Amino acid sequence: MHLEGKVALITGGSRGIGRAICLRMAQDGAQVVVNYRQGATEAAAVVREIELAGSHAIALQADVSDGAQVLEMYRRGVEALGPVDILVNNAGVFRRGDLADFDFSQLAPMRETNVDGLVHCTRAAVEGMKQKGWGRIVNVTSIAAHGTSMPGTTFYAATKAAVMVLTRRFAMELGASGITVNAVAPGFIVTDMSAGLAAEAILAKTIMRRAGTTDDISHAVSFLVSPASSFITAQVLTVDGGRMDYLSHG
Ligand code: NAP
Repeated sequence: MHLEGKVALITGGSRGIGRAICLRMAQDGAQVVVNYRQGATEAAAVVREIELAGSHAIALQADVSDGAQVLEMYRRGVEALGPVDILVNNAGVFRRGDLADFDFSQLAPMRETNVDGLVHCTRAAVEGMKQKGWGRIVNVTSIAAHGTSMPGTTFYAATKAAVMVLTRRFAMELGASGITVNAVAPGFIVTDMSAGLAAEAILAKTIMRRAGTTDDISHAVSFLVSPASSFITAQVLTVDGGRMDYLSHG
């Protein structure tokens, strides 16, 4: 219960990796803001699960790509639970395509969630963290940005590379205020997002020969917001079972 007395906001907390992070933050003792864009029913179910386990959570709708919606979500979150101590920028979308076939109209919406959304949420949360002289920010990037060989991920990878750069730069800007900023880079994790990917080909390139679970990621996030990691910032923690396609450039 190392997060007792803390408030954690998880973007895209209604499903998949974000859902697991919400449950884990609550288990660790935090009060949780479960952000979602469309999945009100799923977000309400996450809140119920947390409440049944004896912790406190609320669900707040906001499309993170919209700065005004983020500010309104943050205002409502502070009103209900107080300023956010822990921000997990997890909300993300994947639009398939490479140089030859990418539908360019999909680039802006993908960037607006994966990159702009992270900036809107971080801007909203850091003032309260600075006032307390303590804060933890974890951004969810992807091993696609390390240079995996998986087809169809080129432009998605570019947005996730931006997440890695922003992680390091924000860490530099915020460290003196007692705020750490790190990222988790998941490999192949079984969620709605990865449902269309070629699982067998990916597993053949994974040292551990299994797909990741959403808890493989929530454990890593739990570590990065725990006292055990208080001297760790500006890092990308890769959680991918050992992917050989970019490690060996094969
Ligand atoms: P997912 O199952 O598709 O869930 C995505 C979540 O993000 C949903 O809760 C969705 O909410 C929310 N979301 C999407 N756009 C949003 C927006 N504009 N504003 C607010 N919420 C938004 O995806 P996932 O697999 O859990 O992925 C979570 C993160 O991990 C993403 O950043 C993804 O890029 C990254 N990742 C995933 C994998 C993988 O293999 N799954 C690998 C590497 C990295 P609604 O349902 O309400 O729309």
